[in-house]
Amino acid sequence: MTDSLARHLACIDCGAIQPLGYVLECPRCHGLLELIYDLDALRRAGPGSLRGSGLWRYAPLLPIADPVHRVTLGEGMTPLLEAPRLARQLGVRRLTLKFEGANPTGTVKDRTSATAVGAALQFGFAVTSVVSSGNAGSSIAAYSARAGLRSLIFAYERASAPKLLHMAATTADLVIYKGVYDDLIAIWDRLVEDRLFFDCGASRNAYKHEGKKTIAYEIAEQSGWTPPDVVIAPVAVGETFIAAARGFAELRAAGWIPRVPRMVAAQATRANAVVRAFRTGAAITPLTIGYTVAEGLAAGKPGRKGEWVLRLLRERDGVAGDAEDDAILAAQRTLARVEGVWAGPTGVATLAVLMRLLAERALDPGQDFCVILSETGLKTEAEPPSRTGVAFDEASLRQLVAERLGAR
Ligand SMILES: [Zn+2]
Repeated sequence: MTDSLARHLACIDCGAIQPLGYVLECPRCHGLLELIYDLDALRRAGPGSLRGSGLWRYAPLLPIADPVHRVTLGEGMTPLLEAPRLARQLGVRRLTLKFEGANPTGTVKDRTSATAVGAALQFGFAVTSVVSSGNAGSSIAAYSARAGLRSLIFAYERASAPKLLHMAATTADLVIYKGVYDDLIAIWDRLVEDRLFFDCGASRNAYKHEGKKTIAYEIAEQSGWTPPDVVIAPVAVGETFIAAARGFAELRAAGWIPRVPRMVAAQATRANAVVRAFRTGAAITPLTIGYTVAEGLAAGKPGRKGEWVLRLLRERDGVAGDAEDDAILAAQRTLARVEGVWAGPTGVATLAVLMRLLAERALDPGQDFCVILSETGLKTEAEPPSRTGVAFDEASLRQLVAERLGAR
């Protein structure tokens, strides 16, 4: 089965139905739209009907109808790593790591770039655009180049040097913007209406959003169609969290998995608008934020997607937590030393939040946890620990090895 089972768009607020087309919000109430699939057909087909590898293995649950538009750089089917030593250190029964740094540009964003750029082709656009703190910019630029499209990339002025280099390498139209994501996104979202470029942003485009559902399909398939009890997902505006929750819900509705995992929303404390609202039971109050090491989570005004995250948390017994920058950096070091996985601060905030929620006894350690690590650590910008070299002769080398490893 490789045909798309997408049938229509539905408003998440009023339920109004739209035919499949490039529509970004509900014409009746301006609510966000989500794609609806023929899940009865999926139920009848069963998991044995999946074909191919990588993200497009799940093409029936993605909205790109023509295989010619299914752009790829080899994204998806990232490793789901057992982490027994880290599980022991955290005192949990089982821990797995969904390492999104293994995607072609080192980020979970490659999933949405594949469907965003695929949709740009589907709807006949020649130019894509995105406002980015770094990862989305290079990912959209790379996928646009791959598809032969031009990309207009707006990048955060404090994005790490490796992220800026990556963006400059993959697009001729890189623009550095002043301030944080929140400062530009509202006006950029209004420019989308002019249709000079295809919306590859995180605010509204359901086709773009859709690619990230595949992370749930993979976690389920890699777990033998019995997903972990708890999945911890990062939340900036909420794309990964919402997409993962929807992906699991679709599989459950199609009878492919016995239950959906409990979802944990993880934020940086310096950009924790959703977590605050969850704790107080109120609506989201936008925050004016500064810098956090978790650059990709630096959004203080998560907008309607943030409200959607909150709704999913409240309706489905979710949990929300945040972590300070120093705890995120400590989790990054621990992960590298204990399991050999080098994730960036944006990617490892989920682990820091899990550690905190376990310490606060907000989660049952007897459960089976899966942490989404959304980016590689290889785009991190920092001074190397030392560049002072030592000139050895054999005696001094022997002495050092004996000191470090102990004399026999
Ligand atoms: Zn509506």
